[in-house]
Amino acid sequence: MPSVANFRFYAELNDFLPPERRFTEFAYGFLDGTTVKDRIESFGVPHTEVDLILVNGQSVDFTYRVQDGDRISVYPVFEAFDIAGLTRLRPEPLREVRFVLDVHLGRLATYLRMLGFDTLYQNDCADEHLAEVSRQEHRILLTRDVGLLKRGSVTHGYYLRATQPREQLAEAVRRFDLGRLAKPFSRCLRCNTLLAQADKDQVRHQIPDQVALLHDEFRHCPDCGRAYWKGGHFRRMRQWIDATVQGSVVARCQPPS
Ligand SMILES: [Zn+2]
Repeated sequence: MPSVANFRFYAELNDFLPPERRFTEFAYGFLDGTTVKDRIESFGVPHTEVDLILVNGQSVDFTYRVQDGDRISVYPVFEAFDIAGLTRLRPEPLREVRFVLDVHLGRLATYLRMLGFDTLYQNDCADEHLAEVSRQEHRILLTRDVGLLKRGSVTHGYYLRATQPREQLAEAVRRFDLGRLAKPFSRCLRCNTLLAQADKDQVRHQIPDQVALLHDEFRHCPDCGRAYWKGGHFRRMRQWIDATVQGSVVARCQPPS
């Protein structure tokens, strides 16, 4: 008699499965007790996509040997679930946490970029386009529109409770544990592009004389050309960021270098 275990894969891990196994529990018969990692990969799901495995409700690591009667739940990198207390398979998420924002969240988009998060935002994007970008690029869709999250194509979305942009940022930081992942002042606030080092000569025509006198370190956006330096605005933004993430990002909050 072969042994039987039941598997279920969650969220975008289903992309790797044949249609009959997607979003449903399925039984799998086996003779040998191979590791759960090998079994998962035999179904076509790369182990690198997996962040949490529960066997009969308990978290296990990849070396667990599948037993007769096991119910095995396999989850992708968690962006929106609190799994404190469970065994994550890796200390840092494999995938970069990225966002796409609903059309009414322009200020929040700027704030997330301040923290260094890849954040797509346009003020004239159709719902179906937002859902599609979220699905294809594995971006977390942030919105205040519940209907948008009910679209079948959205697998990674979050309904923001807060209505004020600063509170929304604090909510997102808590919800997605962003403090430990933040890289403040690494991304253009206007266009989301990663900033590059710049010589003073490169940005001299964009900056006030006083700034040129007082500062020697600059960054600029390779795409839109906007210049950044560590002036008063930098210190205020940094204080606010530190307060927002309540110290968890302070150690990482290095100025651009
Ligand atoms: Zn830019």
